[in-house]
Amino acid sequence: MSEQTNIKPGLSAASNANADGRKRIAIFGSTGSIGTQALDVIAANPSLFTTEILTAHNNEELLIEQALQFNPNIVVIGDERKYTKVKEALAPTDIKVFAGEKALEETAAMDCYDLMLAAIVGYAGFRPTLKAIESGKAVALANKETLVVAGDIIMRKAVENRVPVIPVDSEHSAIFQCLVGESRNRIEKIILTASGGPFLGRKPNYLVNVKREHALQHPNWNMGAKITIDSATLMNKGLEMIEAKWLFNLRPDQIQVVIHPQSIIHSMVQFEDGSIKAQMGLPDMKLPIQYALSFPKRIPNDFPRYDFKKVSNLSFEEPDIKTFKNLGLAIEALNKGGNLPAIMNAANEIAVFAFLRNKINFLDMTDAIEKTMQNVAFIEKPTLEEYFESDGEARNFAADLIKL
Ligand code: NAD
Ligand code: MG
Repeated sequence: MSEQTNIKPGLSAASNANADGRKRIAIFGSTGSIGTQALDVIAANPSLFTTEILTAHNNEELLIEQALQFNPNIVVIGDERKYTKVKEALAPTDIKVFAGEKALEETAAMDCYDLMLAAIVGYAGFRPTLKAIESGKAVALANKETLVVAGDIIMRKAVENRVPVIPVDSEHSAIFQCLVGESRNRIEKIILTASGGPFLGRKPNYLVNVKREHALQHPNWNMGAKITIDSATLMNKGLEMIEAKWLFNLRPDQIQVVIHPQSIIHSMVQFEDGSIKAQMGLPDMKLPIQYALSFPKRIPNDFPRYDFKKVSNLSFEEPDIKTFKNLGLAIEALNKGGNLPAIMNAANEIAVFAFLRNKINFLDMTDAIEKTMQNVAFIEKPTLEEYFESDGEARNFAADLIKL
């Protein structure tokens, strides 16, 4: 891989510690959009993967169903009130059941798996992911917020523990794939593609009236609620710029965003000679999920293929940062660094939560994030504790502002 990533040639995604050579997977956030698609990949490849840990926040029904189908070693239900129900449902099996936030971190440190798929949404995914890295586990990272909050610490610990962090986010998987075989070549810049979301081409006078249901309709991807709103505001692309900075060790000026509404090119790398590599395919998260699980190998599948004879037009345009101000705020956070991305991320989580509950309108989200970024104290080189404190402070500030 590129010298700019922390993956060294010859280091595979996980030591296949199962006696039969199968990679043992822990899915943190197994009931979500990424988690369920990962289980589809695992179900289609029983000779390659086993499921060792499944976790969910409060969808106990689905967690139980998944546990009965995949027979993991351990399940964790975040909401402690649901522990008894899960425990009773799985009593006839030898699956261990734990509950609560602390249990997520504790199981992340356990010896029973090789690779964590970090598919919890938001800041809640940070501590289990950090614990996995500290425990020397390979991480397939869907949870971009972890890198936005404290990417410096995460990547440093990954290097110290010789842990590969393999991107699952489709753009970053594309870049990662473009870098295979390029370990001695420097990146000039990367080009992150963005679909533009459901409100591409719209102006603020339209956005002020958009409703939750409309914002939840993404044209190309079917995802969890939080990331779908982030895609509609373009905050998702901002989070992804910060994610890319840490994953590929880039300067902010090496990261460009281009709107590509068809979502066929998943992102590109431009090298020092001006040559550009792109990774393409139909928009289907199963592909980057599968690649992250099976890396460095590719495995066959029967997913639908992109057909050049059918889709004719691939188009590109500049993002409209004047209208989609969240992307501008994220670029500010990317440039300034320190705890500003963590502050922005926390305020964004609160704002999206409020929007999803119809407490604020679409443009109020930007307002809350901007004010929080201006008001929580800036720290240039935060410690881990300071990142946690900034997150808490920003959450409180944004929640007060919104009157949650
Ligand atoms: P989702 O809302 O569908 O699922 C989230 C999962 O996290 C669920 O299993 C839920 O039980 C768990 N969870 C939620 N809150 C939790 C908490 N407080 N404690 C513990 N567990 C909790 O989300 P998703 O769309 O699957 O996204 C997951 C992550 O992957 C996000 O960080 C997102 O940005 C990233 N991602 C998603 C996609 C996609 O296509 N869905 C694409 C790229 C990146
Ligand atoms: Mg993405």
